[in-house]
Amino acid sequence: MADTTKILVMGGGYGGVKATQDLYKRYKKRDDVEITLIDKNPYHTLMTELHEVAGHRTEPESVQVSFAKIFGGTSVRVVADEIQTINFQENKAISKVGEYPYDYLVIGAGGEPEFFDIPGVQQNSFTCWALEDAIRIRTHVEEMFREAAKEPDAQRRRSLLTFAIAGGGFTGAELAGELLEWKDVLCPKYHIDSNEVRVIIIEMMDSILPIFPEKLRKKASDYLRKKGAELMLNAPITKAEPGKIIIADEETISTDTFIWTAGIHGSEFTSKIDLTKGQCARGEDAEASIEGIHGMAGCSFEDDERYVVGERGRILVDDQMRSVDFPNVYLCGDMIWYTYNEKVVPQIVETALQTAEVAAHNVIADIEKKERESFKPSYHGFMVSLGGRWGVAYVLGIPLTGFFAMGSKHLINLHYLFGLAGINAVWGYIRHEFLTIKHERSFVGGHFAWKIPVYWALPLRVFLGGKWLAEGIKKVSEGWLNPGAEGLANVWTGAIHLPGVAFEDAAAAATEAASSATPGAGGADAYGEALIEAIGAYTWFAENVLSASPLLAFLLQSAVVLAQIGIGLALIGGCFTFLASAASIGMGIMFIASGWGNPELLWYMAAAIVMLGGAGRGFGLDHWLMPALKRWWNRRTFAHKTKLYTGEPRIRN
Ligand SMILES: Cc1cc2nc3c(=O)[nH]c(=O)nc-3n(C[C@H](O)[C@H](O)[C@H](O)COP(=O)(O)OP(=O)(O)OC[C@H]3O[C@@H](n4cnc5c(N)ncnc54)[C@H](O)[C@@H]3O)c2cc1C
Repeated sequence: MADTTKILVMGGGYGGVKATQDLYKRYKKRDDVEITLIDKNPYHTLMTELHEVAGHRTEPESVQVSFAKIFGGTSVRVVADEIQTINFQENKAISKVGEYPYDYLVIGAGGEPEFFDIPGVQQNSFTCWALEDAIRIRTHVEEMFREAAKEPDAQRRRSLLTFAIAGGGFTGAELAGELLEWKDVLCPKYHIDSNEVRVIIIEMMDSILPIFPEKLRKKASDYLRKKGAELMLNAPITKAEPGKIIIADEETISTDTFIWTAGIHGSEFTSKIDLTKGQCARGEDAEASIEGIHGMAGCSFEDDERYVVGERGRILVDDQMRSVDFPNVYLCGDMIWYTYNEKVVPQIVETALQTAEVAAHNVIADIEKKERESFKPSYHGFMVSLGGRWGVAYVLGIPLTGFFAMGSKHLINLHYLFGLAGINAVWGYIRHEFLTIKHERSFVGGHFAWKIPVYWALPLRVFLGGKWLAEGIKKVSEGWLNPGAEGLANVWTGAIHLPGVAFEDAAAAATEAASSATPGAGGADAYGEALIEAIGAYTWFAENVLSASPLLAFLLQSAVVLAQIGIGLALIGGCFTFLASAASIGMGIMFIASGWGNPELLWYMAAAIVMLGGAGRGFGLDHWLMPALKRWWNRRTFAHKTKLYTGEPRIRN
C-alpha cells in the first residue's frame, strides 16, 4: 500500500455517513489516512421523511442535509459523483468522469423499489424512494386535483381523484396519512367535495403495518379509516395497466395515481458490480424478517418470490460486514444480505447505522491490525406518522399512539440530526416541522407557525427604541456621565445615582447630589413604586463593591446610560435588533433586581420579546446587515468546526 491509506465510502445515506463520521473521528489527526465520501447528490437525504414532502407537509429542503453541513470543517473529502461500477481487482470506483482509487472501500448505496415482476407495475406506478420520487408524487397529486376540478365526465373525474397506494407497510401507511391530510387542503382550494376523493391502501396481507402488535395495527387502521382511507386487505395486485390496477386477476381499480411502496431490494447499482448477491444465502435460513416493513409483505412473499434477489439483489456479507469476495470491501445498510437468527436483517435505519458502525470499526481494525468485530443487531422500536398530527409507535416494547408516538418520532429524528450536523440541523428540523408548518399539520398544532408581519411590529420597535433613547439622554442631561471636576482620577461621589450605593461622605454627597440632579431620575420613583426591593446579591454588591469604589460605581453607571442610548438607537434603526432586544430584557431584569425597576419596565421587556423575532429585518438595517453577517460567519473556520452555521455553510474545497 502507498504511504497514504485511502478509504473510500460510497453512498452518503444513513450508513455511509455514519461510517464516514466514525472513520473521521478515528483519523482526524492522521495525515496518512485520507477519507473520501462519494454520493450522487451533494446532500444526505432523510429518507424516513420523504412521505412528508410527497404529501406537501414539508418542503424538499426539509429532507436534505448538505454534506457541507455534515463534513464542512473536517478533512473528509466529499465528492458529488455517480459511481457506475467498481473495479475490485484494481481497487477503484469508476464514474463517467473519473476514477477513485481506494485501499478500503465501504459501500452504502441503499436500496430501490422491487416490483416482483408483476406485469405493468413498474411501468405504471410512482415510487417513493428518493427525493425526486417524492417531488414527482406531490406535483402529480396536485395536478390531479387541478384537472379534476374542470373534468365534467364523472368516471374520468373519479379516476383522477382516486389515489391508490400499494403496500400497507411504513411507507404506504405514512403516505396515505399525508394524502388524507393534504386532501383537506386541496379540496377547498380546487372546489372539490372531499367525498369524491378516494385514498386506498391495497395490501395483500390481512392487516397494514404488520410489524406492530395487533392493538396498534388496529388503532392505525381505525385512524386511517376515520380520516377517509379505504383499506383493501388480502388484495394481491396481479397486474397494472395505464389507469388501472388489477387485484387478484378479478377486481379493477381505475386510477390515475398508483403509488407502489410494496417492496425494496438492492439498488440498480448492485447489478453493476461483481459481488456475490444474497441468493447465495437462499435456502432454509433465508427468510426475511420484520415482514412487510416497507410494503405489502415486501419481505415475506411465499414461494420463489420471497427470495427474489436476482441481479439486483442485496449483497452477501459476512458477520463483519465484509463482502465475501474481497477482504478490503465492506458494506452497510439497505444493500446488504445478512441473516441473523435465521432472518435477513430488515432494511431500516437502525440496520444501516449499526452495520456502518461495524464496517467502520473493522476498516480501522484492518488498518491498525486489531481484532475485527461482528454485527449483532439490536432494534429499539418503530415509529410511523399518519399525517402530521397522529401516529403510532412501538418503542422499547411500549406501545404509543397520538401525541406520544409523534413526540417520540420527532425526538428520535432530532437526536439523529444532532449527531449528524449539530444544532444547525436540529434547528432546521424544528423550523420545517413546527415553525413554518402550514395548515396546522403538526402534532402541536399551528400555533408555532404563525408570524406577525414585521410592519405591525415597526411602530412598537421605534417607540421602544425611542423610550430607551429618551431615558439615556435624560440621564446624560442630569450629569450621569459627569464624574465631577476632578474627572475619573477622583470621581465625585455625589455624581453616583445607582441605588443602594452609599459612600462615607454620604451626607455631603446627598446635599450635593440634590442640587445637581433631578430627584428620582431614571429610578423607580420617576415612574412609580419599585416592583420589588433589591435582591440580596445586588445589595451586597452595592454595599461592598460599588460603595467602596466611586470610580467603579461611576463606570457602571456610565455603562448603563450608554447601554440605554445604544439600545434605543439600535431599535430605532433596526440594527442588531435581536441583541438590542435581548439587552432590553437583560437591563429590565437588572433594574428590577436592583430594586430600581418600576412597572413601566415590564412593558419594555414584553415589547422586547416581540422584537426578538427579527423585527429589524424589515424597515431596518438588519435587512442588509444580517445576510452580510451570515455570509461572513459561515466562512469562519470556527463556524465550520463547531457546525454553528446559520443556514448553509459556504463550501470550501
Ligand atoms: C418513505 C420512507 C419511509 C421510511 N421510513 C422508515 C422508518 O420510519 N424507519 C426506518 O428505520 N426506516 C425507514 N425507511 C427506510 C430507511 O430510509 C432505509 O433503511 C435507509 O435509508 C437505509 O440507509 P442506507 O444508508 O442503506 O441507504 P440510503 O439512505 O438509501 O442511502 C444511499 C445513498 O447512496 C447514494 N447512492 C446510491 N447509488 C449511488 C451511486 N451509484 N453513486 C453514488 N451514490 C450513490 C444515494 O444518493 C444515497 O445517498 C423509510 C424509507 C422510505 C423511502
